[in-house]
This record gives sequence, C-alpha cells and structure tokens, in this order.
Amino acid sequence: MNGWHRVQIDNETIWTIHRPPADVQLGRLHEHLALDDDQHRDLDAYHEAAHAMVAVDAGIPVHTVEIRPGQHPSGWMTYGSWTGPWVDLATMCAAGEQGALRWLREIGRYTETGGWAAEVAAYSDRAAAEAMCSEPVSVITDDPTTRHDWRHLGALAQQRLAVLWPAVHDLAATLIAHGTAGPDDLPALRHHQGLP
Ligand SMILES: [Zn+2]
Repeated sequence: MNGWHRVQIDNETIWTIHRPPADVQLGRLHEHLALDDDQHRDLDAYHEAAHAMVAVDAGIPVHTVEIRPGQHPSGWMTYGSWTGPWVDLATMCAAGEQGALRWLREIGRYTETGGWAAEVAAYSDRAAAEAMCSEPVSVITDDPTTRHDWRHLGALAQQRLAVLWPAVHDLAATLIAHGTAGPDDLPALRHHQGLP
C-alpha cells in the first residue's frame, strides 16, 4: 500500500509519501535529515541542480541557479517565459525533491525519516506547481493514471533524472563551489542547451 501519510503540525496538514518520524517537528528538519552543514549544502545543490537540468532538458530557459547555505530559502532558480506543455513545468517543480532523494541514496544517507524531511523541505515546490501550471495538480491522490498527481510527477522527474544525472552532478559541483550558476558560465547547461 502506497498511501499518503498525513501529519498535523500546528495548523498545517502535511501529506508525504515517506512515513513521518514519531517525534516530528517542522523546526527540526535538519535533525531529521541527520546531515552535517556541508552535506546539507550539497543536498540543496542537488535539489536545485535537478530542477534546473530537468528544465533545460525540456527547453525551459534557465537564467540562474543559486544556493544560499543556512538561509531561507536556501536555494532557487530563475527562468524565462515558457509556452510548452504544462506537464514539463510540473515535472521541473517535482524534480528538486527527487534530486535530493536520489543524492541521499547515492551517498548512503537515505532513511525513511530523512526522506520525509527532504519531502517537507521541498513542500513549496508543490505550491509552485499548483500556481504555475494551467491544470490542477493534486498532491494527495494515489491515482497513477492521472498526470495531476504529485507522486506521478515525481516518477516522471525520476525518469528524467536517471538520464540527466551526470549533468546534475556537474551543475551541483558548480553550485557547491561558487554558489551560483548560469548559462554563460556553466558547461553542463550550455551543452544541454546546444551551445558550444
Ligand atoms: Zn525546489
């Protein structure tokens, strides 16, 4: 059974695929992730790099990608106007969470609790998907046949990331080294945008 987990924190209802920890607290995402500061920075870098590479792959014009360790928000991306299929935008939104989860698995730091925290840390991406997409995105259904399901969008993002992962690595490394990246100074992005 792949049902959604629901937890009530203060006045907020949070739905997650991962099971929440028994001692759940929103202010303790850092602890739930069990990462040191450098690893937390790297997690943010992979989250943003995954957004960016899935966007670039779809032809969405990425302008800048940034991480700001220890700040809120700790990372973001800017991009130009886009008139392609809404599902590409929604998949871009879902890719940050999936990139973070994939990286946690890759370095052997993935746990159910850590996965829950990475999901919650990416919660605003769901609101972004709802806000920017022309069709409604449900975050709490379990219908694998609908494109509106956040879980399905996550699966689409996973498929793209499986192909794009080497470029995500490159972009994350640039973000970790410099804090920011854009088309002009980023080989991975330039390559994927067909630039020399
Ligand atoms: Zn995000």
